[in-house]
Amino acid sequence: MNGVGTHHPSGATTAVQLKTILNHVQRHKSFVYKKARWADPQTKRTIEILIESRANSHAICSGCDCPAPGYDRQPERRFEFVPLWQIAVYFVYAMRRVECPRCGVKVEKVPWCEGKNQLTTTYRWFLAGWAKRLSWKTVAETFGTTWQNVFRSVQQAVCWGLAHRDLEGIEAVGVDEVQWQKGHKYLTLVYQIDAGCKRLLWIGQDRTAKTFLRFFRMLGKERSRRLRFICSDMWKPYLKVIAKKASQAIHVLDRFHIMQKMSKAIDEVRAGEARQMKADGYEEILKHSRWCLLKRPENLTDKQTVKLSELLKYNLRSMRAYLLKEDFQRLWEYVRPGWAAKFLDEWCTRTMRSQLEPMKKIARSLRTHRELILNWFQAKGAVSGGIVEGLNNKVKLTTRKSYGFRTYEAIEITLYHNLGALPEPEFTHRFW
Ligand SMILES: [Zn+2]
Repeated sequence: MNGVGTHHPSGATTAVQLKTILNHVQRHKSFVYKKARWADPQTKRTIEILIESRANSHAICSGCDCPAPGYDRQPERRFEFVPLWQIAVYFVYAMRRVECPRCGVKVEKVPWCEGKNQLTTTYRWFLAGWAKRLSWKTVAETFGTTWQNVFRSVQQAVCWGLAHRDLEGIEAVGVDEVQWQKGHKYLTLVYQIDAGCKRLLWIGQDRTAKTFLRFFRMLGKERSRRLRFICSDMWKPYLKVIAKKASQAIHVLDRFHIMQKMSKAIDEVRAGEARQMKADGYEEILKHSRWCLLKRPENLTDKQTVKLSELLKYNLRSMRAYLLKEDFQRLWEYVRPGWAAKFLDEWCTRTMRSQLEPMKKIARSLRTHRELILNWFQAKGAVSGGIVEGLNNKVKLTTRKSYGFRTYEAIEITLYHNLGALPEPEFTHRFW
């Protein structure tokens, strides 16, 4: 194939050949790009780059990474590289086999590919890089490859990242459960929520104590002992595991989860009341009220604000529940744990007299976990309430975007890939 001429200001012309570009973006010490050719000159769909080993270079044993005497040469093999202008690019190379004194007869190690992969390492990282921005299906379609190839590329990127990530210095973590698929299938997610580093640390299937224990096994005893804050919801198995595995850490019941429970209780009161009113012939009053009651007042639309002030005229059960919730928000503004405790106790007493069963249930559970809630005031500053919520939303977005992932393996990989802040190897040229 001919090179493309470029004019320098000096007037000299340098031919840019494919070989020159390849040597610029990805140079190999012991191998040379011999030439580029069309795989089929008629269709011009695929470029093949022939690679040869340098004459004086020793082959490296893939078993032990040491130079070893040659044994024989295998037939040519094709390795897919990053496509160029929608033209597929393959490296073509006949692998040598070595007779290694340690490993016996082994195929050589080449720098552009690992193991039995058909894709070059660069191409795999290229696909994985795009898979952070686009769905796996779109990546496959865009670059003319298969869904399987994208999946495997992301999988290998995640494996590499997990093996090379730094787990030192983790002080604050949050554990959360997320429902996935239909029915009662859950994932346990553990995030690092330190001020300087927020990322997904670990994923497990189900939300049992056994699942969560596996996180601590992964983290190791030493690092678990160095945790200072752990956020969680009120899910019993999590509480138990935290008490057992990181008793030195301040265990904080997460504000986000408490308010989430509160919203659920209000919803319950409202739904029950709406049913009752419908039966009594007053169904109009509570219509379109759901979001008025669940949103914070400052987030309401004008229409919702009007609706809310209308609702406040009636002594509805829903409104009493709503006012209790809004009042409870004040708790988070306290600076001193003592005052917060006083407020919390007073709120619980008031709520227990409210005759609103879903709200009373909340009050009872807040009393049970009083200490863990008040820990929030000790952790204030170190743990901000919004972090877990933010990460939780990202997880939901990612699982939704990856519609069609039916296996746990795929969901695990995509979450690590998108939220794990995993490291990548250094490349002299970034292709994506
Ligand atoms: Zn060897």
